[in-house]
Amino acid sequence: MGSPSAMTRVERRVAWDLPARQARFVDDGRAGLLGKMGIDTVGDLVTHWPFRYLDLTRTLPLARLKQGVEATVVGSVRRIQRKHPRPRLTIVEVAIADETGTLLGVWFNQPWMADRFMEGERVAFAGKVDLDFGMFKMSAPFVEKLGAEDGSGNAGRIVPVHKSTEGLTTNWLRRLVASAVDDYADVPDHLPAEIRLRRGLVSLRAAIHGMHFPVTTDEAAAARLRLAYDELLCLQLGLALRRHEMVADSRGHAHVLDGDAHARLAAEVPFALTSDQVDAIAEILEDMASPRPMNRLLLGDVGTGKTVVAAHALAVVADSDTQAAMMAPTEVLAVQYAEKLGPLLDAAGISWALLTGSTPAAERAQILDGVTTGEVTVLFGTHALIEGGVTFARLSLAIVDEQHRFGVEQRLALRRKGEAADMLVMTATPIPRSLALTRFGDLDTSYLRERPHGDGTDRITTRLVDRSHRSSAYDTVRAAVADGRQAYVVCPLVDESDAIAARSAMKEAERLATEVFDELRVGVLTGRMKAAERLATMQRFRAGELDVLVSTTVIEVGVDVPNATVMIIEDAERFGLAQLHQLRGRVGRGEHRGEVLLFAEPGSAESRARMEAIVRSHDGFALAEEDLRLRGAGQLLGIAQHGLPELGVASLVDDADLLETARLDAFGLVEEDPSLTLPSNAALSVEVRRRFAQVRERVQSG
Ligand code: ADP
Ligand code: MG
Repeated sequence: MGSPSAMTRVERRVAWDLPARQARFVDDGRAGLLGKMGIDTVGDLVTHWPFRYLDLTRTLPLARLKQGVEATVVGSVRRIQRKHPRPRLTIVEVAIADETGTLLGVWFNQPWMADRFMEGERVAFAGKVDLDFGMFKMSAPFVEKLGAEDGSGNAGRIVPVHKSTEGLTTNWLRRLVASAVDDYADVPDHLPAEIRLRRGLVSLRAAIHGMHFPVTTDEAAAARLRLAYDELLCLQLGLALRRHEMVADSRGHAHVLDGDAHARLAAEVPFALTSDQVDAIAEILEDMASPRPMNRLLLGDVGTGKTVVAAHALAVVADSDTQAAMMAPTEVLAVQYAEKLGPLLDAAGISWALLTGSTPAAERAQILDGVTTGEVTVLFGTHALIEGGVTFARLSLAIVDEQHRFGVEQRLALRRKGEAADMLVMTATPIPRSLALTRFGDLDTSYLRERPHGDGTDRITTRLVDRSHRSSAYDTVRAAVADGRQAYVVCPLVDESDAIAARSAMKEAERLATEVFDELRVGVLTGRMKAAERLATMQRFRAGELDVLVSTTVIEVGVDVPNATVMIIEDAERFGLAQLHQLRGRVGRGEHRGEVLLFAEPGSAESRARMEAIVRSHDGFALAEEDLRLRGAGQLLGIAQHGLPELGVASLVDDADLLETARLDAFGLVEEDPSLTLPSNAALSVEVRRRFAQVRERVQSG
């Protein structure tokens, strides 16, 4: 291809996929540095959006600052001081001045900040203004060097700040981006004109320019709106198409609802269903009766009783003379299904089997035979279910529990074991609506909000425990065991690897067994243990042969030991709220109250707020909203793992309304033009497929 200016718009868009090395001023060295930031292609460079702007059109003279306002100021560095008022405390103070006054930038324990400045240079500070003994200060302000060479050029402008890396100054990076934008931003706009008009959005080209180099803050806002909407629309379109593909021209099973097995099973359930359970069962059975394949998500906090809802669906399958598979993410859980649901199915006269990685070969062969002939109606199991060799005679219902542990591909793999099988996914992870619309955007949803045993506050007490009060927490465990109860100790989250997590759990178990609870029976459970070993430990705990179970977070999912009443969680501040809430749901499941002791030393205001929230609230959905707000979507989401393109501009926290709009537009488009084949949708269709394909590549290669 020739020079960018000689290219057609389409050629320019194609050039986005060329290596970044092709862009102006990008030599091998800079290409390497860009690569470290994940900028591999020309397009990556064009879409390397600034993470903030420095608005030099609205700088304030230093004399006009006021306490408490957010401001951007410009001045020359007058004095740089490094102070050591106490051992282990360094304070760097950098004084800047303009014609009207002075201001101090202050940094605690970042001694290197002193070396970043030179007397006389021009800099901009952005941050919150403090007034301290008559002196204006900013604590750890954002700093932009205006430098002699382009200081004047930046004055009165909005300066974009792009994330850079060591060895590549922000100024250089800005220049690389500017050149790439000049050369490659003029590409076809994939948004249909009709949608752009309806939503009042600027063109793609204008948005790229406006995002990187806005002249006014309005221009930046308009650019951001367009790009955020664009991301959300493409995401929702991908989901809408995926859903359409699942439903289109596949005639599914129209299940029989009023059969004998269902009646027998309903009669065997030993309690009255909650009204949420009744509603969820009705929604699921309605889907199952329809020939349109079901794609439904059952969302219900721990203890809301999802299992019995699933049982009704299984019975309907038996009445229809077809088969069902129910897949759990761990062997412990799969066994638990069999133990809980098996007797219920037996009583209703429904044949079932359990298949896991540790099923002995002979038994496995026998089960597979029964599944192939159709003798086995319900097959419980783990990932073992989606392996080759498992062939159903007529699978009509696939249930996946704790869906967040499985990728979309595994979910689909189970469904593909049948022809247009109905799909029910269940999750105990309470997620906010914006997240549900994204991660599970291709599914219908049923909610279980009500708990059969009250709202939880009467069943579980949660307390924050300072580490210095450890020993009293251990006394709580001893007291519970003396009363015949059992306890969990959950080890710290370890980022590094399963192996390290497992090792630290083993060490902690050893310490507890020898130094703290030497009179108690202590067991340990880690993700690194062999499945059979894990299962044996779990069974010993369930049988009451162990008093204390030390574990990594593997117990998070679904484990049900009603006699366990105390849980200690180490380093609680490192867990997400949803995860803490799920962990906590493991105690107080039986007739006795549960007590959760969080060992935490919240370091930041954010982690303190989270710890207070978990102590105060027992509403999983409220906690999930809180987590999303406090921690941001990034950490919670990992949407790429779910086969969805990552959001670079849009935010599931701040753009919840825009998401609803984009979803409406996306599902509307697919309704009118199910495969996006109309000429007006052609470019959009290509863009959506491109974005989803990129995720697939990244997920597969990484
Ligand atoms: P989860 O939604 O966490 O999977 P389970 O299905 O394991 O919840 O149910 C939790 C406990 O509540 C189980 O012991 C179950 O038998 C019981 N349960 C479920 N529904 C009801 C109900 N409507 N009334 C009383 N107990 C119920
Ligand atoms: Mg159906």
